[in-house]
Amino acid sequence: MRIVVLGAGFGGLELASRLSDAIGDALDCTLIDKADAFVFGYSKLDLLFGKSSADAIRIPYSDLAKLGVRFRQEEIASVDPAARRVTTDLETYDADVLVIALGADYDTAATPGLDDGGAEFYSFDGAVRARDRLASFTSGDVVIGVCGRSFKCPPAPSEAAILLDEYLRDRGVRDATTITLVMPFGVPIPPSPDTSHALLERFAGADIRFVADHRVASYDADGGTVTLDDDSTLPCDLLMAVPVHRAPEVVEGSGLTENGWIPVDRGTLATRFPGVYAVGDVTSVGTAKAGVFAEGAARVVAEQLIAQIRGGDAPAPYDGKATCYVEWGDDLVGRVQVDFFSGPSPTGVFSQPSTAITEEKAQFGASRRARWFAA
Ligand SMILES: Cc1cc2nc3c(=O)[nH]c(=O)nc-3n(C[C@H](O)[C@H](O)[C@H](O)COP(=O)(O)OP(=O)(O)OC[C@H]3O[C@@H](n4cnc5c(N)ncnc54)[C@H](O)[C@@H]3O)c2cc1C
Repeated sequence: MRIVVLGAGFGGLELASRLSDAIGDALDCTLIDKADAFVFGYSKLDLLFGKSSADAIRIPYSDLAKLGVRFRQEEIASVDPAARRVTTDLETYDADVLVIALGADYDTAATPGLDDGGAEFYSFDGAVRARDRLASFTSGDVVIGVCGRSFKCPPAPSEAAILLDEYLRDRGVRDATTITLVMPFGVPIPPSPDTSHALLERFAGADIRFVADHRVASYDADGGTVTLDDDSTLPCDLLMAVPVHRAPEVVEGSGLTENGWIPVDRGTLATRFPGVYAVGDVTSVGTAKAGVFAEGAARVVAEQLIAQIRGGDAPAPYDGKATCYVEWGDDLVGRVQVDFFSGPSPTGVFSQPSTAITEEKAQFGASRRARWFAA
């Protein structure tokens, strides 16, 4: 069975490594990504606030040593899901099973003024640029602003606000600055009232203003204002933006999307095309967009393929559950265990920030690195 996996992020790496660990060198898996290294999403916050260097957070794909997995650094140019054929800048691949794990791209141009004077911190290059902007920022109003309705890692803007407060305090310029967080939700983490309550208290203690139920619509760097989606304005000397998200262009061109994302069967992650699955941020499966959900979905696809190759029972359906970590400042990390599918609406169980959870998050990253890259 020729398995071709598009995208070596959270979803693609989890899928390829699960298949490799179960099937070994009898596996025929091609894993394609245009990048030369994997970066954990949360490492971009370490980069942004100068806790890690750009080199330290990159995990090169050349380190990938999984039996039966061929990594190809190529840019995917087209996907034909009916034929299960993929064309890259270098090759054409025909697959028996095609898994699309191409994540979400950013559309900074959708927010007028963002490219001219703002700083998005969600991409690797954007986090480097935002870090450099922050380094010379000594006074004024910062807005951490979400520009679209659906965005990766819902806790990340709250984490950025908390870590920014800490960063500016450490530099002795916090009193000369304000921090405002603009989010399209009524509370920071809608599935978990306890997490939201604790975050709102944390914001109040750090003098972070939380503007609920709004998005940043545009930025006027010269005038020093952001305009929100109801035409109200906020003073802003530095916009740190979570840009509008969209499916990668190659996915939009494949005919797989509906309303911007790939619809999948919630239990199996199958698309409407036989032999074609999709996992992670590129789908509209119904969870938040986060690595831990991409990983869980990839695990279910891997188990289905292993059962097909080896024989055996079909796995339990994807359950939409995952554990998210929340940076709390002072080297503490909180945790929220989120369940998107069990009840009538998503729920989340909060654990107070602690050094034990800080250690747990470090273990989480180390275990993925070992599982995804080591033979
Ligand atoms: C600041 C920040 C903090 C975050 N914190 C967390 C966290 O604490 N926990 C968590 O679970 N998630 C977190 N996330 C979210 C997480 O990074 C993503 O949700 C996750 O990476 C999604 O996995 P994925 O496999 O769907 O896509 P990705 O990991 O984005 O992988 C997609 C891959 O496809 C490749 N690709 C795209 N287009 C092409 C093409 N045309 N050709 C070839 N390759 C292509 C990309 O290079 C990429 O490697 C955070 C994100 C950010 C930005």
